Amino acid sequence: PGGFLEVITGPMFAGKTTELIKRVERQIFAKRKAALFKPAIDNRYSEREVVAHNGLRYEAFVVPTTEEGVERIKEITLNEGYEVIGIDEVQFFPMSIVEALNELADKGIYVIASGLNLDFKGDPFPVTKELLVRADNIVYLTAVCTVCGKPATRSQRLIDGKPAPKNSPVILVGGRESYEARCREHHIVPEE
Ligand code: ADP
Ligand code: MG
Repeated sequence: PGGFLEVITGPMFAGKTTELIKRVERQIFAKRKAALFKPAIDNRYSEREVVAHNGLRYEAFVVPTTEEGVERIKEITLNEGYEVIGIDEVQFFPMSIVEALNELADKGIYVIASGLNLDFKGDPFPVTKELLVRADNIVYLTAVCTVCGKPATRSQRLIDGKPAPKNSPVILVGGRESYEARCREHHIVPEE
């Protein structure tokens, strides 16, 4: 009873991780048993905590971005009796996470998944896309475009300060040195 799938999405620096921590923390204050999970791939700031770009942090289970990692999220949640779970950077997990989280919500768990909307080319992350259409609630956040100050919905990848070309790899975990938030107009993807 009470299961719910909530998806927090938007570009980098939109405050997704901050919002995820805030929502999980509120549940903990209300005495609900809650846990955070994050993929092992994202070790930008910490190996054992979910950390936002503004320094806010929270202890988390770190799981591999494999089928086994998805199984571990399910096992830990059900075995430990968590009522609320948050998953950060959900787009890095395999597609099986979609069914897993949907199932957990069906079993009565309040699932909050936070993930990037689009990759640096402007293409949807398939996991986020599939979660969005199954969500009971969507929190769509925007950042501030670093060029014009308008709401930013895209993540601009930069290499030596210049827009990264289309043929660079999709997954490159980085922070402010390699990504900027941009609006549609100022999001640039050179052919090469
Ligand atoms: P996300 O998880 O969506 O990448 P975080 O919650 O980790 O976002 O960080 C959001 C924080 O990033 C903001 O509160 C702000 O301090 C910082 N920030 C850096 N660049 C920008 C930007 N261009 N627009 C908005 N916030 C930014
Ligand atoms: Mg984040």
